[in-house]
Amino acid sequence: MAFENLTSRIQTAMKNLSGKGKVSEGDLDETLREIRLALLEADVNLKIARSFIAQVREKALGAKVLEGLNPSEQIIKIVNDQLTDMMGAQAVPLNKSPKIPTVIMMAGLQGAGKTTTVAKLANKLKNDNHARPLLIAADVYRPAAIEQLQTLGRQLSIPVFDQGTDVDPRQIVKDGLKQADQEKNDYVFIDTAGRLQIDELLMQELKDIEKIAKPDEILLTVDAMTGQNATETAQGFNDALGITGVVLTKLDGDTRGGAALSIREVTGKPIKFVGEGEKVTDLDVFYPDRMASRILG
Ligand code: GDP
Repeated sequence: MAFENLTSRIQTAMKNLSGKGKVSEGDLDETLREIRLALLEADVNLKIARSFIAQVREKALGAKVLEGLNPSEQIIKIVNDQLTDMMGAQAVPLNKSPKIPTVIMMAGLQGAGKTTTVAKLANKLKNDNHARPLLIAADVYRPAAIEQLQTLGRQLSIPVFDQGTDVDPRQIVKDGLKQADQEKNDYVFIDTAGRLQIDELLMQELKDIEKIAKPDEILLTVDAMTGQNATETAQGFNDALGITGVVLTKLDGDTRGGAALSIREVTGKPIKFVGEGEKVTDLDVFYPDRMASRILG
């Protein structure tokens, strides 16, 4: 289970407080130190963990919770609110174009779950909003990726535009968008190439596609299992491309969870969805408050 360790460590740190009749500033600091360690162990970036603790401390002392009733409960509430804030406070919906189609460009490193996420998201829009999406297969470096998208499209009865692997992805995107116009698709997903790491060539191609498609949304798929690397990847893509949101995948796995807590703070961009399994229905809207409650257990 994701966050298992973080949850139990925070709970243990809090128990130290609730066992006490009167909580001193020293007790508070001791607990906050434990929480800081728990965050670091969960792969939260050091700067973020520090600022998190400083803010919780300031709020607790400012609100004079140590002098009031049930200080430990109030501190839990402050921690909960601070976790929620750190993840962006509110759920942020997908951007939508005032006129069809809304173009969603997907980016991410190979294996992050980009192709799977395209299918999940298109299927969600089809089921929830009666959308008529078109999927454009522009990952020409991995023939299996096109095949995978076609297979998913067939399973979900969602059309997939592909021109094989011999056409330049920029051209594929142009032609795919033309087809979407003709067919009056209301959503277009562009499945772009992933690489094992961020490199110039990948970024240039993505920038070119961005210029051609003028997407309403550039969604970055990152794998929560990669810990601090997930946050660094998000930062790298955001600096080079300017993403509009993140899909955090594999949160069903045994991830320590730091990415969920750090991405918003580091990039300023919201996590919009989380992937919680391999099935096409395993995609959820990201609610910061629910995630905070889940982390606190
Ligand atoms: P891409 O290279 O980024 O397009 O990645 P794929 O979509 O091919 O996904 C890579 C692997 O991750 C596949 O085996 C997917 O089934 C798996 N995967 C994707 N999203 C999730 C998720 O949320 N949870 C789990 N457990 N597996 C996922």
